[in-house]
Amino acid sequence: NTKRTIYSPNFYLCFIAAVYLVVFHLSFFMFVWSYWKTIFTSPASPTKEFCLSKADKEQYEKEERPESQQEILRRANGGEKHKIKYCDRCQLIKPDRCHHCSACDICVLKMDHHCPWVNNCVGFSNYKFFLLFLMYSLLYCLFVAATVLQYFIKFWTNELPDTHAKFHVLFLFFVAAMFFISILSLFSYHCWLVGKNRSTIETFRAPTFRNGPDKNGFSLGCSKNLREVFGDEKKYWLIPIFTSLGDGCNFPTRLVIMDPEQLTVSSQNEPAKSSGASQPFPARPLSESQNRLLTTDCQWVESGPEEENVKSGMRNR
Ligand SMILES: [Zn+2]
Ligand SMILES: [Zn+2]
Repeated sequence: NTKRTIYSPNFYLCFIAAVYLVVFHLSFFMFVWSYWKTIFTSPASPTKEFCLSKADKEQYEKEERPESQQEILRRANGGEKHKIKYCDRCQLIKPDRCHHCSACDICVLKMDHHCPWVNNCVGFSNYKFFLLFLMYSLLYCLFVAATVLQYFIKFWTNELPDTHAKFHVLFLFFVAAMFFISILSLFSYHCWLVGKNRSTIETFRAPTFRNGPDKNGFSLGCSKNLREVFGDEKKYWLIPIFTSLGDGCNFPTRLVIMDPEQLTVSSQNEPAKSSGASQPFPARPLSESQNRLLTTDCQWVESGPEEENVKSGMRNR
């Protein structure tokens, strides 16, 4: 018993120190790993199949009227009827959710924003890493602030030894707390965006579908939206390795689709044809489409032969 009373405070302190060391290094390691991946993952750009052929490009450049230019783009894009976005700088047809970044001077797939903190574009290729970077830096700052808190309080009650080191406590707490608060707001905002399947750019300008702009056009429901970014396998969610679904050019929408088999064919073999602000299927909100299908089918025929294939109001995935 005497042994225990002598050693137990030491054991307790050792145990706490071990826990602190493990948590600190684990959160620091994950933070550095995800930060590294966010910085050094180059933004994904559209592939060569989105470039116009030489003849089309010459014709496009000669043409001055926007309507005729759109006609050339539509023809090159497999006869899609809606407006097609073209990047004059990169000279390619922009797939859905693709934007030109003026800082990187390239078109970036599912561009979210250009982040000066990581000196990189945040987009399809590194959005998951960016979210994990925010999460682990939040955890890291929280850990530092929480473990320094008791010494921070002692600083103000004059219980710390009177050395220069006591100002380190002050500085450390303020920096950790300040970063924690600012990252928390950014992280909460991006969690909300993931839940809505929206990019930062799309919150300012809603993506356009055949029926016009729809800010929730890509939303498939909270759980599926999360899987779009983090993938289907939960064991990889917290690790900064790429597991996002899709190819970055074609995105499932909440709209009524054609036969799923046809969709697979169109998205795998002819990605260019379903690009632009385009959908390979009728662009009507699911709820609306379901109602229409329940009442009458003939309303779909007006839009063209491909849309006669519409089956029930199925979702994409
Ligand atoms: Zn571009
Ligand atoms: Zn950029």
